[in-house]
Amino acid sequence: MRVVSIVGNRPQFVKAAPLSRALRTRARETLVHTGQHYDPELADLFFDELGIPEPDHALGIGPGAPLGQLAEMLRGIGPILTDDPPDVVLVYGDTTTTLAGALAAAKTGLRLAHVEAGLRSFDRSMPEEQNRVVTDHLSDLLFCPTDAAVSNLMREGITRGVHRVGDVMFDAHLLFAQVAAARPGPDRWGLRAGEYLLLTVHRAAATDSRAALLDLVAVLEALDAPALFPVHPRTRHRLEGEGLWERAERVPGLRLLPPIGYLDFTRALLDARAVLTDSGGVQKEAFFAGVPCLTLRTETEWVETVEAGFNRLVAMDAGAVREALSDLALPEDRPDLYGDGDAAGATAEVLLAGA
Ligand code: UDP
Repeated sequence: MRVVSIVGNRPQFVKAAPLSRALRTRARETLVHTGQHYDPELADLFFDELGIPEPDHALGIGPGAPLGQLAEMLRGIGPILTDDPPDVVLVYGDTTTTLAGALAAAKTGLRLAHVEAGLRSFDRSMPEEQNRVVTDHLSDLLFCPTDAAVSNLMREGITRGVHRVGDVMFDAHLLFAQVAAARPGPDRWGLRAGEYLLLTVHRAAATDSRAALLDLVAVLEALDAPALFPVHPRTRHRLEGEGLWERAERVPGLRLLPPIGYLDFTRALLDARAVLTDSGGVQKEAFFAGVPCLTLRTETEWVETVEAGFNRLVAMDAGAVREALSDLALPEDRPDLYGDGDAAGATAEVLLAGA
């Protein structure tokens, strides 16, 4: 059996790592890297650290306006699928790369499988939500990480080919947490375990307007502890463009870094007092690590982390952040929300059986 897996950015590399391992023991995988993330710290480092094989096709598309990126990706992926059609095309998550892979597979009449299917924020203005909805509706096999994801699909009339397999990011966390724990600790950044906050911010809603960036800077200024903020290139670029970068640099105790690798990020997470983020993946990783999460959005796809009391929706609101930081207590029990740690194995089984 042959699978074409299509990846292109940071969270997809993390998701592909365990699944690629599981697949390659039983099937032939052709890996396509669109190049949506191309900076070394957002791409190459992930391939090295996570042991992802060299891509068979590196399209090198790079950043750009989403429509242009989508068109270029379709132009790049199309011939790969038509020249040597695989049994199934595998796409991950909710990015332009996901949508391009899904459209290319559907238009060439190939079977499409979506990893992390059924996630919804119910905000159709989010590019990620558009990508998820279209991809799910085109998919033949839908691999859901949670029960909520299965219910979301059911509400949209999608019941065939739906498999609740667990979360491949949980698999990745279990695979790499020990290696990460052996990395140098937070003292390398002059921080003490259990005392600092860890931040990530990259969504369009948080970075695409001056008003949103001012809210972000106000949040940085409201932090009550030293903090580590590996800044996504898009966020840095936007802050610089609005003349707000220097203001962020002046926040006492705030360490502004370029994005760090998955292992260093996981290491930093394991010892953090709390995480503040607008990332989907980081909300879950905070839960895996048992670290309180404040989500800088008004909604989340990972509702079960909120229901379990491990995650709070505080929006990009300095007052709400300050208040939430004053009470970070977590429940005693951490429920099993994301499967048994072998979502990749379960996904590979279904793929092999279904081809
Ligand atoms: N991550 C990382 N380095 C960083 C920030 C995040 O390795 O400096 C990892 C993080 O551990 C998670 C993934 O990047 O696995 C999340 O990616 P991102 O926030 O870009 O995407 P989202 O999850 O929101 O789709």
